[in-house]
Amino acid sequence: MPTCRVCRGNFTQDQFISGNGPRYLVCANCGVEQGMVTPDEVPQLYDDAIMRARFTAVARRHSLWFWLIIGWSLWVFLFNGTPLWGNASLVVLILATLFTPVRFFLKGPSHRAEMRRLTP
Ligand SMILES: [Zn+2]
Repeated sequence: MPTCRVCRGNFTQDQFISGNGPRYLVCANCGVEQGMVTPDEVPQLYDDAIMRARFTAVARRHSLWFWLIIGWSLWVFLFNGTPLWGNASLVVLILATLFTPVRFFLKGPSHRAEMRRLTP
């Protein structure tokens, strides 16, 4: 993968603008920032809206794992010793722990479809 001469980032070849001289080996984002191309000329550019949408999709996909870790940490540190709340939250946590991987794999294809839709 070539390296952008401006931001030193590594991208695939299709993320670079074409041209010689100052436009040689400049990625689409740096090309727009430096005024070498307009955003219309680089359809491969991940603009801010696409970046936010992709970040949201990834965060939504992985947020259940995050809440699972938070839940187990809270249970270990707070509810472990309490009789009623400890047992009730333990049941909820076990159900969530069993449910999360199933949901993660069932939602995989729709997540991949969404990421493909959000790829310029
Ligand atoms: Zn760059």
